[in-house]
Amino acid sequence: MPMEGSILLDHGAGGKASAELVGGLFAKHLGNEVLGQMDDAAVLPRPTGRLAVSTDSFVVDPIFFPGGDIGSLAVHGTVNDVAMRGATPLYLTVGFVLEEGLAIADLERVVASMAAAAKEAGVKVVAGDTKVVGRGQADKLFINTTGIGVIPEGLTLGAAQAKPGDAVLVSGTVGDHGVTIMASREGLGLDAPIASDSAPLNHLAAGLIKACPGLRTLRDPTRGGLATALNEIAALSGISIELDEAAIPIDPAVGGVCELLGLDPLYLANEGKLICIVDSEQAPAALNAMRADAHGKGAAIIGRCGGERAGRVWINTSVGGRRILDMLSGEPLPRIC
Ligand code: MG
Repeated sequence: MPMEGSILLDHGAGGKASAELVGGLFAKHLGNEVLGQMDDAAVLPRPTGRLAVSTDSFVVDPIFFPGGDIGSLAVHGTVNDVAMRGATPLYLTVGFVLEEGLAIADLERVVASMAAAAKEAGVKVVAGDTKVVGRGQADKLFINTTGIGVIPEGLTLGAAQAKPGDAVLVSGTVGDHGVTIMASREGLGLDAPIASDSAPLNHLAAGLIKACPGLRTLRDPTRGGLATALNEIAALSGISIELDEAAIPIDPAVGGVCELLGLDPLYLANEGKLICIVDSEQAPAALNAMRADAHGKGAAIIGRCGGERAGRVWINTSVGGRRILDMLSGEPLPRIC
């Protein structure tokens, strides 16, 4: 039976109402043998290999949007950050800040969505916390997730590892998440078939690692989009990057909405895409590995790394020009994730 009613301050007080919420909702969807210990801290077996840890808070507005919701996003965002270092994500912790008055049915929908996302990614929620704040002191709900994964011996992936001559790939269309959030928030009533790309990328990353010993960098271009993530890689690796605009995959519907709203999809957030930098000889293998995964069907080779003008990202435009692609400046869209 789904729980009814709305969140009261009582639900965060640690008493009977809290216990009902934990048992009737959180444990029902996220429960496992570790979470079931219900003790002050989860006790986990010692893993082999180095640990990768990442934490992120999710405040996306609206909490439900085409292609996902704040719950699945909170799992995907953290799983993907852990996976970008080559780690196999194993565990998540989850902290909720709930606003008094939130419909319990909405909370349950979010938690069920988290459970499905965690299942697809193959991670367990091993610790959790819930706090309730009064009306107007938060907006419906905020979620923090921390992810823990293990990195196999000998693997060193990172944004500082790209080398001149390497190939630059992206796993699919860019800008989908950002444009979807903007369109749903503004109630634009667009008929365009757009949806967030929110997805777990750990299986795709594992396939790439297996297929390409010459893999250097994986990075998920979230806030700031593809352009900003590539600028970060160029700066950290001390290289330049040259992109071919025509090779960058953009969904026609997303491109259309961007044109309408005056947005550049290269600067919009993605939540289910990764940038892959690899030894150019292994670019075809990387492309095949990505396309073999459900979340990498639209993968493409979009450019190359160079040794001149370290830190710069250039783009060869579709009309035959060449310009600098800078980092995002300012925050065009707060509460995107
Ligand atoms: Mg990231």
